[in-house]
Amino acid sequence: MKSIFITRRIPEHGIALLKHAGYKVYVSNKNRALTRNELLQGVKGMDAVLSLLTDRIDAKVLDACGPKLKIIANYAAGFDNIDIAECKKRGIYVTNTPTFLSGYAVSEHTVALMFALSRRVIEADDYVRAGKYKGWDPYLFMGHTIFHKSLGIVGLGRIGIGVAEYVRGFGMRVHYYDAKRNKQAEKTYGLIYTPLKKLLRESDFITLHVPLLPSTRHLINKDTIEIMKDGAFLINTSRGPVIDERALVTAIKKRKIHGAALDVFEYEPDLAKGLAKLPNVVLTPHIASSTEEARIEMAECAAKNIIQALSGKKPKHRINS
Ligand code: NAD
Repeated sequence: MKSIFITRRIPEHGIALLKHAGYKVYVSNKNRALTRNELLQGVKGMDAVLSLLTDRIDAKVLDACGPKLKIIANYAAGFDNIDIAECKKRGIYVTNTPTFLSGYAVSEHTVALMFALSRRVIEADDYVRAGKYKGWDPYLFMGHTIFHKSLGIVGLGRIGIGVAEYVRGFGMRVHYYDAKRNKQAEKTYGLIYTPLKKLLRESDFITLHVPLLPSTRHLINKDTIEIMKDGAFLINTSRGPVIDERALVTAIKKRKIHGAALDVFEYEPDLAKGLAKLPNVVLTPHIASSTEEARIEMAECAAKNIIQALSGKKPKHRINS
């Protein structure tokens, strides 16, 4: 009987599909990310591993799995935690879960962060809860209007396009930058393709949706922040290391930019020194795809990728061929 190791409990829907297909399914009973040793132990002799973005899957883990391993099915859209080249060399499939609803969940969260930031929702909520609200004040938590502002989307893939779709009714001028131009999306959503430097210079709000790659690591750094419009807002729901977080803290302290909303962090779960003390940042703990609907779909998607691979088919969401 083929065996599958799931490194942390995911919605039952995915586990049920695997059991129904006749596999022996081992689910970690630790209610946390596995330590390196626990991961190396857990994967031993498996035909498939369903991994999370907190699991570093490298040559050592693949060695620990042994010769039966057919697939690493990551329960995430990103796959920067996996040594793709090493898997390819060994003929092991790597799959991700870029599902319909998880894309919209991240796009929605991005929009929620944009409003939380511009209208200072978190600061204002803290203030009321602390009993500090003593009466209406014309200057209290004055924010910034989104209507007629410019939004720059960096990375117009599944999630970037979802953001463009959501903001259609907001009266914003929407620019995008991507390594590949998408004329169809330009037409459908009224987007303006703009080279990166120009986008940074002209956007009031900048939102990042690129994968973490050598070419995108520290895409936002001291120099690119310098190019940004004074008083811009930055939102990141992609991967933490796309931003040089220390440079960001310095820029916010110097009031070069107005604020930032981050769902992901450079050294997750740690934060850059000083970040949590800044009032004009909104911080969420990597929850952008965390809706019940999206996570169920992701669990089913990862399970189906495994079933396809173990029954000799090419899994639908393979990253390497
Ligand atoms: P996608 O592959 O559909 O889109 C990524 C886009 O980035 C593509 O259009 C690609 O052409 C572009 N791109 C790649 N390299 C680039 C570069 N150097 N410069 C400019 N553009 C470049 O991916 P997606 O599904 O939209 O997801 C984007 C990222 O969001 C994922 O890789 C993942 O890391 C992150 N993500 C985060 C969460 C979360 O919970 N916060 C959830 C899902 C995904």
